Amino acid sequence: MKRIDHAEASSEFIAAKAHQEFHDRRLWDLRLKRDREAHGIPEWEELRTLASQIKEHTLANLSDYLEQFEARAKENGAEVHWARDATEHNQIVYDILSRRDAKTLVKSKSMLTEECDMRPFLERRGIEVIETDLGERIQQLDDEPPSHIVVPAVHKLRGDVSQVFARTIGAQPGNDDVHYLAETQRQTTRPYFLRAEAGMTGANFAVAETGSFVVCTNEGNADLSANVPTLHIASIGIEKMIPRTEDLGVFIRLLSRSALGSPITQYTSHFRAPREGGELHIVLVDNGRAERLGMRDFWYSLKCIRCGACMNTCPVYRRSGGLSYGATYSGPIGVIIDPTFNIRKYSNLPFASTLNGSCTSVCPVKINIHEQI
Ligand code: SF4
Repeated sequence: MKRIDHAEASSEFIAAKAHQEFHDRRLWDLRLKRDREAHGIPEWEELRTLASQIKEHTLANLSDYLEQFEARAKENGAEVHWARDATEHNQIVYDILSRRDAKTLVKSKSMLTEECDMRPFLERRGIEVIETDLGERIQQLDDEPPSHIVVPAVHKLRGDVSQVFARTIGAQPGNDDVHYLAETQRQTTRPYFLRAEAGMTGANFAVAETGSFVVCTNEGNADLSANVPTLHIASIGIEKMIPRTEDLGVFIRLLSRSALGSPITQYTSHFRAPREGGELHIVLVDNGRAERLGMRDFWYSLKCIRCGACMNTCPVYRRSGGLSYGATYSGPIGVIIDPTFNIRKYSNLPFASTLNGSCTSVCPVKINIHEQI
């Protein structure tokens, strides 16, 4: 196992000047939009404090909330599965698909399934897996992992996307009009929604008191993935739990403003029960989270709501690109999470930081990221 050398891995990205400058500008633009939104809400700092407190309370009582969630979800008609690690998660998903003889799975963006390396696992067993988020689909077609947790292909210029689409899905070579490219992806993905036997989503929040979960997207692809096929599988990390529906308002107000500088995501979809005649399977995944919860100094990272704000503001991330971290999670949040998965492989990542504390300042759940680095 080779130790990731972030400085070496980023040298190629830094040498591609046009890419590096665009990446830096694009992400800083998101940071500025986030600031405008945050300054537009007088109680912004109170919301951050509240969000942090709700997460800390939930994590301190996590086993109780997980049991409550499971009981409510079962009452709603969902089947609940528990996965100790990535292997168990992938096997559970495969078994559910096999029982229904499902050969095609349409899925929306989920960092958890990236973490579990689920796509190659299923593909080796004859299941076709189609990413339906535009950025994630670009990365799938280019055989690259996502480089950002919210905008997976942010390191690519439109010309790069045009080349990928021309090579893989029959787009006109040289046409880099963004509307044309988005429409081409839409047209080629839609038939998969109609023929897939199964759909998969992640979850941004799981509500213990109702056994329901919420998925926030901007493209509506999660809703199609969940609602068109009769089988819906939702993979949810155990740290996504929040106690009550009432708490959602706090996080929904913070999430998209922190992520993209927009007041809300286009879709904030609530899932509670299987559709009529269908099946809903919820896979609750640990994969190292319980162990991290027991780490005195590092459990705070479990509060993360994956908004990406710490990445957008980080001068090292903006100039080196997400792929240079060689891990599922990049930027400041990756630097503190990845070594907990594999301390040797990722032991150099914490040096990919200036320790300026900007990540901590923008984090909507007040994780003390730079102190942990
Ligand atoms: S650590 Fe904070 S800022 Fe970074 S992705 Fe998580 S919630 Fe967002």
